[in-house]
Amino acid sequence: MSKGSDSPVLCVDIGGTSTKAGVLDAAGELHLIESIRTRPDTESYIRNLSELVANVRTRATDQGFEISGIGVAMAGFLNAERDRLLYNSNLSWLEGFPLRQRLAQGFDLPIEMEIDSNAACMAEYHFGSGRGSQRFLCVTCGTGLGVGMTIDGVPLRFAYGCLGDIGHIIVDRSGPLCTCGGYGCAEIMISAPVLANRYAAQIGTNASLRTVIEAAQAGDSIAVSILREAGEWLGIAIASMANTLFPDHIAIAGGLSAAGDLVLKPAEEIFRHSAGVFARTNVTLTRAVLGSSATLIGAAWPFWNSYTAREKNREPD
Ligand SMILES: [Zn+2]
Repeated sequence: MSKGSDSPVLCVDIGGTSTKAGVLDAAGELHLIESIRTRPDTESYIRNLSELVANVRTRATDQGFEISGIGVAMAGFLNAERDRLLYNSNLSWLEGFPLRQRLAQGFDLPIEMEIDSNAACMAEYHFGSGRGSQRFLCVTCGTGLGVGMTIDGVPLRFAYGCLGDIGHIIVDRSGPLCTCGGYGCAEIMISAPVLANRYAAQIGTNASLRTVIEAAQAGDSIAVSILREAGEWLGIAIASMANTLFPDHIAIAGGLSAAGDLVLKPAEEIFRHSAGVFARTNVTLTRAVLGSSATLIGAAWPFWNSYTAREKNREPD
């Protein structure tokens, strides 16, 4: 962010289960965070979303923030104008809905939409682990496996506003059916619900990814081995990404990264073993630092003036 010159931005992060909103100040600090459930009923959801944004804006105004715009990050592919969701199997009821236009009716502010993986990547690039990187790849491992890349501070967009769905890189030809309809994708091998279910099946009770991580940290060998295996699949996936995209820095973000070395060590071992020599010797692999706030922070990035100008310069007319 061009420090000090940008006004606060009202940020929204629309995920498959919850929607968060808050205010990002010029120093990269989040304030006034509120959230609602993401309910699969378009009209009532839009009403709730508008109320959420209105609430945060009112509180922001009361506290002296002069909001310059609304940045909305969402999971899924966007159309070329970036004003609506084109595809997300978890948010199919929002597909094609003119979201930017509908939100604009209630607020006299510019609204920009961005894909969540790009938003997280841009946040880490500006305020986190990607600072100073020229070709920064950010891999967010949560319910899905979201991957964003920025080249000189501009998100790489091949198709549908993003890098492509690189989390669905295939790592096991005999792997299980993935949510995308393919088989053996990295995402289905390491997604949070899959790991939680794998652990639950072995211990005979319900579990979440957090449960697995806490159990592994306490020395539970089943949990440790589930996380090690997830790290290995992740390592294969990022080796292929490095061979293809030649990042100089890869950051691992998302809920799975909270497991620290239990996941990152096996990931790095497999990565260093599998990736091509040129790719692996020119890349640093680290854990992301902004945690679960990265996407919300990065939702504001289209309002970071100097960088938006750079992207506009690159886009063909
Ligand atoms: Zn897939």
